[in-house]
Amino acid sequence: MNSYVVRVLNQLHETYPWEKEFLQAAKEVLESLSLLMDKESKYEKNAILERITEPERTICFRVPWVDDKGKIQVNRGYRVQFNSAIGPYKGGIRLHPSVNLGILKFLGFEQIFKNSLTGLPMGGGKGGSNFDPKGKSDNEVMSFCRSFMTELFRHIGADTDVPAGDIGVGGREIGYLEGQYKRLANSNECVLTGKALNWGGSLIRPEATGYGATYFADEMLKTKGKSLKGMTVLVSGSGNVAQYTVEKVSHLGGKVVSLSDSSGTIIDKDGIDEEKLQYVMELKNIKRGRISEYAKKFKAAKFSEGKRPWGLVSAQAAFPSATQNEVSGEDAKALVKNGCICVSEGANMPSTPEAIEVFLKNKVMYGPGKAANAGGVATSGLEMSQNSMRLRWEAKEVDERLHQIMINIHKAAYEAAEMYGTPGNYVNGANIAGFKKVADSMIDLGV
Ligand code: NDP
Repeated sequence: MNSYVVRVLNQLHETYPWEKEFLQAAKEVLESLSLLMDKESKYEKNAILERITEPERTICFRVPWVDDKGKIQVNRGYRVQFNSAIGPYKGGIRLHPSVNLGILKFLGFEQIFKNSLTGLPMGGGKGGSNFDPKGKSDNEVMSFCRSFMTELFRHIGADTDVPAGDIGVGGREIGYLEGQYKRLANSNECVLTGKALNWGGSLIRPEATGYGATYFADEMLKTKGKSLKGMTVLVSGSGNVAQYTVEKVSHLGGKVVSLSDSSGTIIDKDGIDEEKLQYVMELKNIKRGRISEYAKKFKAAKFSEGKRPWGLVSAQAAFPSATQNEVSGEDAKALVKNGCICVSEGANMPSTPEAIEVFLKNKVMYGPGKAANAGGVATSGLEMSQNSMRLRWEAKEVDERLHQIMINIHKAAYEAAEMYGTPGNYVNGANIAGFKKVADSMIDLGV
């Protein structure tokens, strides 16, 4: 590995030993950049790696709110404004009990390169709270969101920082957050993306991450003269990304046979068709139920408690779409053994380093999250453009733009991988292609 990269990684380990997800993400990116650092000395001369791994600003704050019993609850809120070299900070808000600064730094760091890959002018950021929306009433979620935005609003803005959804933040939460922002800022600027259509949202934004991950898989498969048509496909998660991955894979002729949540996995060998997907959408987005209920409704399906989909049945393609580190080295071996040739990550960093090694060693077409799931933020970028122009594009137009962006991201990652001597390695390709634009901009902008 390049000595500059080793030095910066060691410094990060010494400074933030407890931020294990951030260190994992930094290692993956910087190892790929070794290839670039060997060729170009300007990045070391300008201390780019030291600067790009340190957020420009991190905001931590208390979030007090009142539950339905009248009891005061306190959560912790964060916004990591990681890098604004190429545009306003942009990245989602995650609401999940596991949220801490290390997780948000990993997500914000990944977001820098992902946003760069989209070709749109967006910097990288991420935020969230350890609040758990599960089991909370609408009123409690609103009370939390109002309190969260009461502090956050002074740090964000359409040209400063534009948050969006992530785990635990869908249309309902974006509504409550935007509502409070409007109240406090006395402004109708559309500061969040993922808004509903009636108040500034973009068509295709809900679909974008799942559709984009599927378009990316399609591009990878095309390089080998293959397609999703007729393939059996595994999808994990059952939230926003998973739902629209099922939809687009089915449109392209694949058969999705799994979905999961944090309590387990359902396998439906008959495939999850349009009618079954409608049931899942209602179950998850409206009733906020558990995926195990799918197996009670559709008798051909089987629920495996506490299991992830990867080793349960044979499939040719996999779309991890739940959360980080949900595909272990052993899971990856099981996928390969069962005939999987293509992995496209809807989630952020779902594959562990051991799993990635297995995929690359076995020549699996492996699309890392920062490239494969960039369709979500890209379409958020398109929502920002429409808001600025005060007009709305038709669904077809947004979908075509999204599709073209995914084709471009695939091409950039594919070509960078080849140029730096690791053909077919989309990890190296995406990291190098995403990094160069941001790093060169940082040099232009001075210290
Ligand atoms: P949702 O909250 O809509 O869904 C998350 C899904 O993942 C749920 O099924 C949830 O199950 C499951 N899940 C969450 N945590 C765990 C866990 N620790 N173990 C097992 N399952 C878990 O989130 P999204 O679909 O929006 O996000 C999914 C992933 O995609 C995340 O990694 C996110 O960062 C990434 N992503 C999302 C984008 C977007 O546009 N929404 C854009 C780019 C990336 P349960 O309900 O039981 O918690």
